[in-house]
Amino acid sequence: MRAELQADLLVIGGGVAGFGAAVAAGRQGLGVVLMEAGAKIGGVMAFCPGMPWGGAYPRDEIVGGLIAELRDRLAGLTPPAAETRPCTLENFGREIVYDPDMAQVVMFEMLEEAGIRVHLNTVATAPQVNGSRIDAVRFHDRHGPSVVRASLVIDCSGDGDISAQAGVPYELGDASGKMMGVTLSFLLVNAPWDTVFAEGDPYFTRHAERGVAAGRLHPDLAKIYMMKGFHRDTVFCNSVIIRGVDGTKPDEIARATQEGRRRCRELLAFLRDEVPGFGNAWMTSLGPTVGVRETRKLEGLYRLTGRDIAAATKFADGIVACANPIDDVMRGEGAMTHDAAVADSAYYTLPFRCLVPAGIPNLLFAGRNVSADPVAFASIRGMPQCMAMGQAAGTAAAIALDAGIGVQAIDGREVAARMKAQGLWGLA
Ligand SMILES: Cc1cc2nc3c(=O)[nH]c(=O)nc-3n(C[C@H](O)[C@H](O)[C@H](O)COP(=O)(O)OP(=O)(O)OC[C@H]3O[C@@H](n4cnc5c(N)ncnc54)[C@H](O)[C@@H]3O)c2cc1C
Repeated sequence: MRAELQADLLVIGGGVAGFGAAVAAGRQGLGVVLMEAGAKIGGVMAFCPGMPWGGAYPRDEIVGGLIAELRDRLAGLTPPAAETRPCTLENFGREIVYDPDMAQVVMFEMLEEAGIRVHLNTVATAPQVNGSRIDAVRFHDRHGPSVVRASLVIDCSGDGDISAQAGVPYELGDASGKMMGVTLSFLLVNAPWDTVFAEGDPYFTRHAERGVAAGRLHPDLAKIYMMKGFHRDTVFCNSVIIRGVDGTKPDEIARATQEGRRRCRELLAFLRDEVPGFGNAWMTSLGPTVGVRETRKLEGLYRLTGRDIAAATKFADGIVACANPIDDVMRGEGAMTHDAAVADSAYYTLPFRCLVPAGIPNLLFAGRNVSADPVAFASIRGMPQCMAMGQAAGTAAAIALDAGIGVQAIDGREVAARMKAQGLWGLA
């Protein structure tokens, strides 16, 4: 019989939100176990290597906190492994591009420095609920099933399986269950930027339309979104989108990934044959699986709404600033849009209460499972904001455990004040 794991805090999921939660809590002195189903940390960062940290500069100021620290640590390496550039799409402002392998190295260093016990290839499978509390969480790794007992749990799994099983209400996708499309990304090497980007259209619309008309590209590739990769003459391709996939179902993910591979291959052949500059390019860093934009949005004490963000609301318990557009990506039959969420020079903040369930005193959640309506979700889901949500949840966990209170009793204004002290910008 295996010994059970014990911890002050269990963080489920090692995406950007889980990374933020674990580092923030470890730095406050909590004993933290971070459980990640995959072999890397980063979540979408690991599934779509090279994905920029977008929307990091609302009103041209970095959101601050761990994302700023990470950028600075990467940018300070020799040679530098991160830099800030303008996004070529409208309404996104500046973004951070980085070397994805060096980002893994530095993120693991930060976890190590914070004393986090990282368990990779380990899946949290079910909560053990006693009354309203989560007493323990069952997990599975190569040694078989076991249990971790933690005083508090933060669900950063994106999909929120454990929270849902523990009884937290949720909405899957939008009100009619439609979820954003999933994407298989890749990087092209040996694509000279001066030639490739000479026309200045980030969607390569003229070429994409020809490819679709000729039957060489899937109709959903009528816009081929490509951007400069971190290293010179590399191109990051975030274009192959598969609609109608339920990201909580492993068989649908497998099918979408295989379909994605087919479309990536077709796209590569088309680019090499038809688009100036790509003739000698080759594909690398094809995602190991599709990146999932949206599944469950858990119900928190507060649900951020499209109306809140349009009004540029700054909440007293706001924990991160955001001015990202409504970045909707092919929900159902829908299109790809990124309309401005707020007027020029405005921004809104995300209230801490969006990370707190109503009924469970020792559970928080953070990242893309945040409590938000479909419009607000489409704006707040950027990686810098998800990392800050994790940072806030990790900070709040320390407050709750130090005071011996349930998470619903945490004063969100105190969390906001601590986030401000940790360098977060634009908070009340
Ligand atoms: C294709 C795509 C393009 C995007 N483009 C951008 C962009 O350009 N810029 C930007 O800033 N944002 C972008 N986003 C949004 C952003 O990447 C995500 O919203 C954000 O990364 C979500 O982070 P997360 O940590 O909440 O979840 P995820 O990244 O989904 O991570 C969740 C982690 O939890 C793990 N996990 C799940 N269940 C369990 C379990 N039961 N036990 C253990 N581990 C578990 C998963 O393996 C995963 O590693 C994009 C998203 C996608 C999918």
